[in-house]
Amino acid sequence: MALIHVHSFACGDWVAPASTSQPIHCAVDGQEVAVCGSDHVPFQDMISYAKNTGGPALRTLSFHDRSRMLKALALHLREHRQALHELSMHTGATASDSRVDVDGGIGTLLVTASKGRREMPDETMYLDGDIEQLSRNGSFLGQHVCTSLQGVAVLINAYNFPVWGMLEKLGSCLLAGVPAIIKPATATGYVAEAAFRVLLESQLLPAGAIQLVSGRTGDLLDHLDDQDVISFTGSASTAAALKSKPVVQRNAVRFMSEQDSLNGSVLGADAVPGTPEFDLFIKEAVQEITTKAGQKCTAIRRILAPENQVEAVLKHVSDALSQVVVGHPALAQSQMGPLVSLAQRQDVLNTVNTLMNDCERVIGDPDTLSVHGADAIKGAFMPPTLLLCREPDTAQHVHEIEAFGPVCTVMPYRDTAHAIALLNRARGSLVASVITHNSDTAREFVLGSGAFHGRLYFNDRDSMAESTGHGSPLPHLIHGGPGRAGGSEELGGVRGILSYMQRTAIQGSPETLSRICHQWVPGAREIQTTAHPFTKSFHELQLGEVLTTAYRTVTLEDIELFAQFTGDNFYAHMDESAAKANPFFPGRVAHGYLLISFAAGLFVHPDPGPVLANTGLNALSFQRPVSPGDSIQARIIVKRKTARTADYGEVRWHVAITNQHSDTVAEYELLTMNSY
Ligand code: NAP
Repeated sequence: MALIHVHSFACGDWVAPASTSQPIHCAVDGQEVAVCGSDHVPFQDMISYAKNTGGPALRTLSFHDRSRMLKALALHLREHRQALHELSMHTGATASDSRVDVDGGIGTLLVTASKGRREMPDETMYLDGDIEQLSRNGSFLGQHVCTSLQGVAVLINAYNFPVWGMLEKLGSCLLAGVPAIIKPATATGYVAEAAFRVLLESQLLPAGAIQLVSGRTGDLLDHLDDQDVISFTGSASTAAALKSKPVVQRNAVRFMSEQDSLNGSVLGADAVPGTPEFDLFIKEAVQEITTKAGQKCTAIRRILAPENQVEAVLKHVSDALSQVVVGHPALAQSQMGPLVSLAQRQDVLNTVNTLMNDCERVIGDPDTLSVHGADAIKGAFMPPTLLLCREPDTAQHVHEIEAFGPVCTVMPYRDTAHAIALLNRARGSLVASVITHNSDTAREFVLGSGAFHGRLYFNDRDSMAESTGHGSPLPHLIHGGPGRAGGSEELGGVRGILSYMQRTAIQGSPETLSRICHQWVPGAREIQTTAHPFTKSFHELQLGEVLTTAYRTVTLEDIELFAQFTGDNFYAHMDESAAKANPFFPGRVAHGYLLISFAAGLFVHPDPGPVLANTGLNALSFQRPVSPGDSIQARIIVKRKTARTADYGEVRWHVAITNQHSDTVAEYELLTMNSY
């Protein structure tokens, strides 16, 4: 393979590494595969270019435009996945490791895009929560809104997932409307650069939306300010150095950090050998130790087993690990490849030596390692390593230092309270798992340990077939953790996107909030409709357009017919004395569902037209009983419109049902799909 010159991409141009650049070696055979350096990169200009060109272009796009862009990018990347897989092999990644990195990254981008389309409006402002009532008569209201930061996000990634790491941050950042400067780790930066080229060459992105620094960051960070974000993934020591930079403090640069994590996995006391949970536990432990040769931020570093199960766990895990074929990542038989570099292997071996002050080695002697299809000396191979710490309460290192490789320590616990205490000794982690079929135990762990972990993963015989694995961060759920793990959150659907936006509380009159938020709120201007609103297309309908229906009297015969027809003979509708004895009712009352059915009968227009379907009903509340002889009337008001496809969009209607005294008896939000 020809030597790769890993470029940066700044201000619309590719920048080659200087002749004095840093060599990068293949993890498998130590050959030089790439050179990387950022000597000629105009760092300060990159920030201006992002802020003046990329940011404004992204902010003119709605969330749905940006979502469509992300989806197209993901599909384009998928066409190039094979080339990325082949290149990743030089980093030590086996085919299944690359599926996690490359295919997992593309999948994450697709989920982010889909969430943007389904859960965010076709707007540039995101409404966070509902209207807050701030005054007695409703003439002064509050609403939280989120708008895009007007700076740049510097996305700094660790070496272990060059593609996933880049895409999981980039998806949220671009969807938020913020341009990115991506800084991959140098050791695997050539894979990140290749993926970046694919993104850029798709021509799907506005100019300035993404730039790349391959190599050191020079004075890049020194020019950031309060509208900028550093989103960092890597070691705690680098995080501490970056976080304490004067510019970060002085200019209040938003800093997100995903760092070391001594993740634990607990074998529940009920999960004894012979149960499905015991087998599941062993399988997940082995998988987490060997995937990516243990170079995974979420890998299991500490196994907590009941005292009387420690021997069984040691036996089963070490038996399985001794079967793992360590070898050339391109060979199908190899189940675990090398670490990323000889330096990383040395670092892990040194860390194991330190851990040995607390532990004894069960399996994983590096001197007796046999490597399939590659040279054990030239490549950064090491054996899966299992340690035993007999005295975890007094141990100095097992709860404090991370061997970022295929290394895990087993330790005994006495009871659930002891397991929780040991789990929490890591002072904050990305994920902890508990394999148990006892839901009470699971709840104890959440109450005792939730505050120390970003994610708690419970698995048992009921969920194991479809579970996603202890170590898989998912775009739907937050990734991050408190304390040692960095204290930040990313991913988590819309939550992750909001990390790159500012939440602002807006206060004002109903009309002001309605205009700002593109949403009708009670008290804002109403427009009497000129024709039945169900005869109007999505685009013809105006916010605040209102239809008030005629009255309908609810009779005792209606109530009895409804009861007979539906089978709902609840005493409050059918038995006068029992209903009267109930504190809520004056006597027999109409069914709530009868009222909303009558309301539909009052406001629905019967003819085929722009309303394609009623797709739901939100926040239904029944506020007053309706007695036989009362009359009801409905008012429906266009509350919010959201484009959904090329042909139709969703209309949210505020519906209020009132009685003959103008008292509200029921309120809800009705959802319809309307053609354009
Ligand atoms: P690292 O050495 O801390 O480097 C992380 C990133 O920071 C790299 O891109 C690195 O670039 C960059 N960097 C280092 N010094 C910098 C500086 N002064 N200014 C700007 N950027 C700088 O970590 P790593 O060895 O790549 O990754 C392994 C570590 O990451 C492990 O501790 C692991 O637990 C952690 N990790 C955590 C997560 C998570 O989500 N919590 C995920 C993956 C990994 P260079 O490569 O050019 O030095």
